[in-house]
Amino acid sequence: MSLLIYAESAEGKFKKVALELASYAKKVADSLGTQVTAITVNTDNVSELAKYGVSKVLKVSNDKLNNFNAKAYADVIKQAAQKESSKIVLLSSTTDSLYLAPIVAVGLEAGFASNVVSLPVSTSPFQVKRNAFSNKAFNITEINTEIKVLCIAKNSYGVFENAVSISEEAFAPALNDADFDIKVESVEKGSGKVTIADADIVVSGGRGLKGPENWGMLEELASVLGAATACSKPVSDLGWRPHSEHVGQTGKPVATNLYIAVGISGAIQHIAGINSSKVKVVINSDADAPFFKVADYGVVGDAFEILPKLTQKLKEFKAQNA
Ligand SMILES: Cc1cc2nc3c(=O)[nH]c(=O)nc-3n(C[C@H](O)[C@H](O)[C@H](O)COP(=O)(O)OP(=O)(O)OC[C@H]3O[C@@H](n4cnc5c(N)ncnc54)[C@H](O)[C@@H]3O)c2cc1C
Repeated sequence: MSLLIYAESAEGKFKKVALELASYAKKVADSLGTQVTAITVNTDNVSELAKYGVSKVLKVSNDKLNNFNAKAYADVIKQAAQKESSKIVLLSSTTDSLYLAPIVAVGLEAGFASNVVSLPVSTSPFQVKRNAFSNKAFNITEINTEIKVLCIAKNSYGVFENAVSISEEAFAPALNDADFDIKVESVEKGSGKVTIADADIVVSGGRGLKGPENWGMLEELASVLGAATACSKPVSDLGWRPHSEHVGQTGKPVATNLYIAVGISGAIQHIAGINSSKVKVVINSDADAPFFKVADYGVVGDAFEILPKLTQKLKEFKAQNA
């Protein structure tokens, strides 16, 4: 009875969430006296997973799976869980995995919990702590089915090394042609150098930046910090920034170590999507902006004056500490 994780990768490299998931799984597996098996899709080099506690990898290599396909990927994970007799199947909380996990759970007749934010509260009965109401509250969910599928919230556990020896096995699940009825014609990537999903730091701009022509100073700050850029909903609705950068309740969720909000008022729909971030810095010219209520650090002032100075200071700091 192993514990199965779906280790997400992009362009042949594991995402940080996959390493966090492996770290989490290793801790749970140790407490249950079992080991961690990972399922990977079209990832050649999987040895990195050993560093984070994965003992076995089922490697799926199939050109049909080059583009994400929820039905087919869910079927692959389901077949891997059945092959390994896995009673616990863990996925990340990326857009792809949140899409997959309920389909996997239905296929395995498993109980499903999303937004899990800590190690299981108890394994018998099986209880997990979850974020609820757009991260404003927690609940304890008990799962009584034999198989359990969980999505672990990003940055809720951390990445910890716990090296083990690893075995690799080629796995060729049966693919159902009917799952490929939707064809991906082309894939366009977001413009940012670092994606929001993988970023440790996100620098986000709102309508306070007045127009798309002013995003250069935000991008410069992001580049100095190695951060991803993001924006509020109206900014992407106005076409100032691509929709891939829209964060919030109806956009991408953000759970970074540092979230810097510039010229964003802090409407509840925006906060709902970003308040799992560990440290929130708010720059706003209105001292009464609601965002300051949830900020860890706040700067009241004009973004057009503050951003260039902040970027300059960070450049100097980096140069001194290079
Ligand atoms: C169903 C629904 C879903 C929604 N989902 C989302 C979502 O997912 N994400 C999201 O972001 N919004 C969402 N919204 C919209 C949300 O309610 C707000 O309207 C939106 O977040 C406001 O965007 P903003 O803060 O960029 O703009 P504004 O509210 O216009 O705020 C601009 C801010 O910039 C400040 N400012 C102005 N000039 C400067 C300056 N020179 N320097 C510094 N600060 C300055 C102002 O003081 C103000 O606080 C949703 C709304 C609805 C109804």
